[in-house]
Amino acid sequence: MSRGTLVIDREACKGCELCIAACPPGVLVMTADEVNTRGHRYPLLLPGCIACQACTAICPDFVFQVYRYEAPEASR
Ligand code: SF4
Ligand code: SF4
Repeated sequence: MSRGTLVIDREACKGCELCIAACPPGVLVMTADEVNTRGHRYPLLLPGCIACQACTAICPDFVFQVYRYEAPEASR
């Protein structure tokens, strides 16, 4: 179940990985090889976001916008 989703501005990411450890359910993962135009890996969202906004709070570069679903969704 997912309670929310993210818009990820991957071009703004500097690959510091602070968001990965900050996400309580652990649903952010860094890309394996893919990089943005500045050469940084960036996070991807797996199913299970709880819309807690911890990623938004810790990211130094304002990469995330969090959107909370009105009701939990099973497929995302
Ligand atoms: S905290 Fe922000 S800048 Fe750092 S890896 Fe995550 S999205 Fe990128
Ligand atoms: S809003 Fe919370 S659960 Fe969703 S990706 Fe960000 S830190 Fe993880």
